[in-house]
Amino acid sequence: MKRMTGAKVRQSFLDFFASKGHIVVPSAPLVPVGDPTLLLTNAGMNQFKNIFLNREEPRYTRVADTQKCMRVSGHLNDLDEVGRSLYHHTFFEMMGNWSFGDYYKKEAIAWAWELVTQVWGMDKERLWATIFEDDEGDLGADEEARGHWMSETSINPAQIIAFGRKDNFWSMGPTGPCGPCSEIHYDRGPEYCDKQGEPGHVCRVNGDCSRYLEFWNLVFIQYNRDAEGVLTELPAKHVDTGLGLDRVATLAQDVKANYENDLFAPILHRIQEMLEHDDETARGQLVPYRVIADHGRAVTFLVGDGVIPGNEGRNYVLRMILRRAARFGRKIGFTEPFLGEVAKVVIDTFGDHYEDLRRRREFILNVIRQEEERFQRTLDVGLALLDEIMVDLEGKEETVILGADAFRLYDTFGFPLDLTRDVAAERGFLVDEEGFRAALEEQRQRGRESQQFVTGDSKELELYARLLEELKARGRLGTDGVEHPYDEYIELETMIVAIVRDGMVVGQAREGDEVEIVLAATPFYVESGGQVSDAGLLARYEQGKDVACWEVEVASMWQPVPGLLVHRGLVTHGEPRVEDPAWAVVDAARRMDIARNHTATHLLHSELRYILGEHVQQAGSLVAPEKLRFDFTHGAMLTQDEMDAVEQSVNDAILANYPLLIDHTSYQQAVSAGAMALFGEKYGDQVRVIRIGVPEEPFSQELCGGTHVHQTGEIGLFRIVSEGSVGSGVRRIEAVTGRAAQHLVQERLGVLDAAATHLGAQPEEVDRAVLRLLGDLHRRQKEIADLRRELARLEYEQLLRQVQEVDGVKVLAARVHAAEVETLREMTDWLRTQLGSAVIVLGAVIGEKPSFVAAVTPDLVEQGLKAGTVIKRVATVVGGGGGGKPTLAQAGGRDPRRLDEALALVPKVVRNLLDGKEDA
Ligand SMILES: [Zn+2]
Ligand SMILES: [Zn+2]
Repeated sequence: MKRMTGAKVRQSFLDFFASKGHIVVPSAPLVPVGDPTLLLTNAGMNQFKNIFLNREEPRYTRVADTQKCMRVSGHLNDLDEVGRSLYHHTFFEMMGNWSFGDYYKKEAIAWAWELVTQVWGMDKERLWATIFEDDEGDLGADEEARGHWMSETSINPAQIIAFGRKDNFWSMGPTGPCGPCSEIHYDRGPEYCDKQGEPGHVCRVNGDCSRYLEFWNLVFIQYNRDAEGVLTELPAKHVDTGLGLDRVATLAQDVKANYENDLFAPILHRIQEMLEHDDETARGQLVPYRVIADHGRAVTFLVGDGVIPGNEGRNYVLRMILRRAARFGRKIGFTEPFLGEVAKVVIDTFGDHYEDLRRRREFILNVIRQEEERFQRTLDVGLALLDEIMVDLEGKEETVILGADAFRLYDTFGFPLDLTRDVAAERGFLVDEEGFRAALEEQRQRGRESQQFVTGDSKELELYARLLEELKARGRLGTDGVEHPYDEYIELETMIVAIVRDGMVVGQAREGDEVEIVLAATPFYVESGGQVSDAGLLARYEQGKDVACWEVEVASMWQPVPGLLVHRGLVTHGEPRVEDPAWAVVDAARRMDIARNHTATHLLHSELRYILGEHVQQAGSLVAPEKLRFDFTHGAMLTQDEMDAVEQSVNDAILANYPLLIDHTSYQQAVSAGAMALFGEKYGDQVRVIRIGVPEEPFSQELCGGTHVHQTGEIGLFRIVSEGSVGSGVRRIEAVTGRAAQHLVQERLGVLDAAATHLGAQPEEVDRAVLRLLGDLHRRQKEIADLRRELARLEYEQLLRQVQEVDGVKVLAARVHAAEVETLREMTDWLRTQLGSAVIVLGAVIGEKPSFVAAVTPDLVEQGLKAGTVIKRVATVVGGGGGGKPTLAQAGGRDPRRLDEALALVPKVVRNLLDGKEDA
């Protein structure tokens, strides 16, 4: 095979299929667009799923791409294979060529063969093809594929072998599109077998050694499987192929593991360089090196696609693998954050093809650095906690750390079991690993339950998918070529085409029903890009009548499947029916509030970049009628000056009354013209660009599908209401505009006026008047504290005057005021220090019961005076008992009236003890 760099493999693949009439589309982002059922893009077909499900018309019928993929579930243990396996990674690129109802098996096989043998120069004797042969008998063998291998290629017929359902039949899910596949394997030669010498081992295709490498899977989507498991032939058949870039690069460079090809090697070199390891040391740490390289690559791409570390979903996946890499780093000698350096190499290696990595470089490095630092702090807190747990166990003379505690460390602080085990072992502790695994399993169970919807479309979504299909087939949906009707209209005369009630499609609804209504066309905006849905009214008016014959209040919108816009609301009057004409009226005042907030969000974004710097990137936003929320990347809290400057310049842009210009163009064109592309654009889409400012030199341009004002002046006023942190390097600003801003200002001014009246000051002097008051308050508080101290001193002096001498021993027995026993104890402490050598018994009525504390200084304990003995005698008088140490004891009783009598007894008790008349 020809020697090629990874970049060359990628480019030659795309060029080859372009020459066969394919449109090359960019990779979809790792965060799936418009697919709530998927956590992260994990296969090349994800972005084409709706085409296969027949829910979306393909824009092109031949497509080629290389797709960023992530395969990792939410648990650390599942990652254990990474670093040990030669060919498996969390992040990988899957190249693919696609036919949507266009060419089929013949071309797919012929072109695959042409590419690998002629363009890449693979030795055909080393190539093996597998085809499907049903081991369950129903479908027979894929003779069609075998035939094409025989007629279209020069493969050795003995090297075409058949496999059953497990290896060679592909399905999207339990139901839906599926079909046979045909894989291409490369025989790397016997020297690559890692099971040589194992008894009974035979090298073979789909075997368990690393001699035969499967690198290309051609999937022929031929059937649809229904809920009963019955397969029917699809009218339009598709081709979906997947070719792992890392594997082909590894073959082209004739290296043993993917980690040695030129897509990985620079990362590993950099790690070694930073650690100043010699080659032998590095080889001794193979697994940690590889884990760091694999995870570092995944982390870079994830952050590049806008994922920020967090505690849920994909954010958690990122946090988990980043921390895992950081931990492996510490194991092999990193003491400072280092993953940013790894990310730089990834960006250099992949940035030519994935330009977004370059564009978002600062953002990526920033997010990674902050998370790594945060992890270090977490680690410190976790270690402190572990220490506490062990000290506690030492106190109880136990040596086993509970499984539940180990799990808490793992779950809350990202402390893997082996780390807990290591630290524990250093101090002679064991960990209850069984208990840990039980707790982990319990959590997984919970996770599986909550994740079930993620694996496929729920029944509910199926209903809408069918509904959409049917409406389309009957030509019931249409916006007359208007792509963004919400942009053109605030109300529309249209027709009800479907009603859903209680999860069922119905013909009509009654007053009081909660319904979902589909219209032939709608002016309502459906939640997307952070902008909330419109609300409003649907109604039917008959000619000549001004009272509607039915009305539905629309509270919100949703889009269960792409292309189906559903109005959710309440029938407040009458009986709407399918086929009824309908007026769809958006709540205009609410829409206007939303538009103000949306345009203000764009202004805020561009002013933040202008004032804080270009590293500022949108990390999330909410545009609602009552407020806007904007999350962005920035390492520090905003100073008051920065906040003032941002607020001021947004308001300046509002006063300048700039026009908003809306254009539709291609993604590439928009981005190269300098538009800020947010995360999550889909390939080939016509994008909508919102520009604000003078047309030649707009100061804000963003790809955006939302609703906006026509001129910035319509926003009125912009006020920031809060600024705070929402995680590693991400800040959040909340602000109001228009009516809400006016309301806020009015309210604040009202409070100010009221405060001024209370203070008897002018509004502009409130500040100084309050400071004056606070100064006064401070002085008085200090005076009060001084007086209290003086009072206490007097009380103690009073007590000291009550000291008597009994046979040369100082004895103090007194009644005091105290609200709790703790106070009595503190008082005896103080008195003991003052007297040096004494017997002290203090009594007080606490909660209607007599309480005593006795203290005896150590010198007197030696003479036979014990606090416990003294107090026991005293307490009997009030019908109680007590005890304690020789130096300090406490007691309680029942009868508060005899408290003084009990205290009066103390000198006598002391004398008797000294004389030996009472037992000590
Ligand atoms: Zn072998
Ligand atoms: Zn926008």
